Amino acid sequence: MAATPSIPGRYDCNMSPPAPRLRVLEHVPDSLFHTPARDLERVLGGPTLLRIAGEQTILPLFVSTLLHGNETSGWTALCRLLGRGDLPRRPLLVFLGNVAAAAAGVRHLPGEPDFNRIWKNADPPYAAFAASVLNHVVSEPLAAAIDLHNNTGRNPHYSVLTDLSDANRSLAYLFSDKAVYVEEPDSVLTRATQQHCPSIAVELGPINDPHSDDLAEDLLRRVTAAPSLTPSHDGLTLYTSLARVHINPDVAFSFAGTGPPAPLVLTGGMEAVNFHAVPRHTEFAYTQRPFQETIQVLDPGHRNVTDQFFYQEGPHVRFARDVVPAMYTTDPDVVRQDCLCYLMAPLSPRKATPTGHPPPVQ
Ligand SMILES: [Zn+2]
Repeated sequence: MAATPSIPGRYDCNMSPPAPRLRVLEHVPDSLFHTPARDLERVLGGPTLLRIAGEQTILPLFVSTLLHGNETSGWTALCRLLGRGDLPRRPLLVFLGNVAAAAAGVRHLPGEPDFNRIWKNADPPYAAFAASVLNHVVSEPLAAAIDLHNNTGRNPHYSVLTDLSDANRSLAYLFSDKAVYVEEPDSVLTRATQQHCPSIAVELGPINDPHSDDLAEDLLRRVTAAPSLTPSHDGLTLYTSLARVHINPDVAFSFAGTGPPAPLVLTGGMEAVNFHAVPRHTEFAYTQRPFQETIQVLDPGHRNVTDQFFYQEGPHVRFARDVVPAMYTTDPDVVRQDCLCYLMAPLSPRKATPTGHPPPVQ
């Protein structure tokens, strides 16, 4: 779910692009899978559903990618899987999301919403577009839904769950032994598709990292080749997202050991402990100002919970509780446009509330 780098102007920033209209391709030419993500809009004309045939006795897999236009590993993996003309054993319903943003190499275009925030309570043109996609998804039984994303920072690959059903956890464990349960935002595609079938989003790793492409290809090959999806998640480690850390917009910052001194200096090496337990009292930052003026921690309900997570000892800003950081980034643009990091806690499987659908056994 990487945030947007600076956006080259395909549209004037004051002009909204037209609302998207869904295309459906029942017969997909092999040549499409030799098309770079950047050229999909020119070839397809807009967001498109592709139907890829497989064995009729196996339930299809819904695969979505390019909801964020610059996150291309999912499309690269689909091209590797389908570019030689071989049909997968498992049929696929593929949704190619924001291909216009992909043409510009950005997350989304100026003036339009994030395509992974339109699946509930979107503005009318986008609500209609989202409904047209979901109508196709719910019109047939599906084995599962997998939404493919890249992200930023040094993180292990992991799944994101919006529901802790056994089926979702089993699907997540096919990808990684780590998964994060999130309650917000509630307008992501995974939350919409999980009403119909087991659903996960997967965070493959950085954009333009070949390893991210390999992970996506490996997952798709295994899920499409298997006649059944193993209903096991015994080794899955679950985390829940507690809050995210923002740096206040008017505060200049630097990372320790890099760049000139700044009013807020962030402790070095934190990116390396993404998905690792960090004990209470560990130093997080250094500032001569009251720390509440420099950073802000927001919980899933967007409440300011800064004092619950940090305290200050002289200039040293320290964690007030044990946490597991995730998505900590040292990219200043991402810090400004999204956030510095998320703070998580391990989630006991016993606390997980099993709900939803049966395991993904077909
Ligand atoms: Zn994303």
